[in-house]
Amino acid sequence: MTLSMDNTPPSALQTVTRFAPSPNGPMHLGHAYSAIFAHDIAKQAGGTFLLRIEDIDGVRSRPELVDDYRRNLKWLGLEWTEVPAQSTRLDSYAAATQALAERGLLYPCTCTRKEIEAAGGTQGSDGLIYPGTCKEQRSVSDRPAAWRLDIDKAMQEVGELVWTDEVAGLVTVDPRDLGDVVLVRKDAPASYHLAATIDDAADGVTLVTRGKDLFSATNIQRILQALLGLPALHCHHHGLLLDDAGEKLAKRRGSPALTERRENGEDGPMLAKQLRLQKLEGGTLA
Ligand code: GLU
Ligand code: ZN
Repeated sequence: MTLSMDNTPPSALQTVTRFAPSPNGPMHLGHAYSAIFAHDIAKQAGGTFLLRIEDIDGVRSRPELVDDYRRNLKWLGLEWTEVPAQSTRLDSYAAATQALAERGLLYPCTCTRKEIEAAGGTQGSDGLIYPGTCKEQRSVSDRPAAWRLDIDKAMQEVGELVWTDEVAGLVTVDPRDLGDVVLVRKDAPASYHLAATIDDAADGVTLVTRGKDLFSATNIQRILQALLGLPALHCHHHGLLLDDAGEKLAKRRGSPALTERRENGEDGPMLAKQLRLQKLEGGTLA
């Protein structure tokens, strides 16, 4: 490794953050807030802010929206380095999946959403926790299968794990509110958890910043890091923007699209400034 003059490895000098949107719907204010948050932390540290398009959702991904994300970020006054989109990295996800499957950590699941509901799964932090039907049956079927992580087995393999969050401090991994998550979807060669974990490591991200709604996801991603021999990443889960009615700006509920505001000639840097101030006002954050 090349050392700089003060003998610090180059990697330790650089803060690398990323904004990693899934272009499944138009960019909204919550996205803008997340992007500005990651951007500012990197720039203040003299580091690098990355943009990574997470376009592997076969059904919902809308390639025609990707350029709009870029235009909106530019309009807000952000500068970034773009890394390859996830759709170009499918081989690395397949290799990881194969390695995990060979260790007996994955099992095929043919359940439909309706079947999972009917089996009476309990509510977790991201929908119903999978009740384990296919794990017990391990039956061969012609129906399309997703591949799930056997979380009990994974936990046995990695033992007790922790990760650190700028706000929450030291967190002990507890994946129970997500359970046996899908790592390979029926309609996509990976899932968010797997692809994001692999890419954050491959892209040299040092600080993962994202909304608090993904706090639990980090438990799963920390387990995947350990299973795949990837570094443990430090995180900063930020509060969520509230709308005028005090509700969280959920991605699926139509919060104001930025493209329209940009096309209407609104001042982007001014909007970015307002969003930065909201962060400081505290009361506007969930
Ligand atoms: N593509 C994910 C999303 O938009 C990224 C979440 C993350 O930052 O890890 O929800
Ligand atoms: Zn199943």
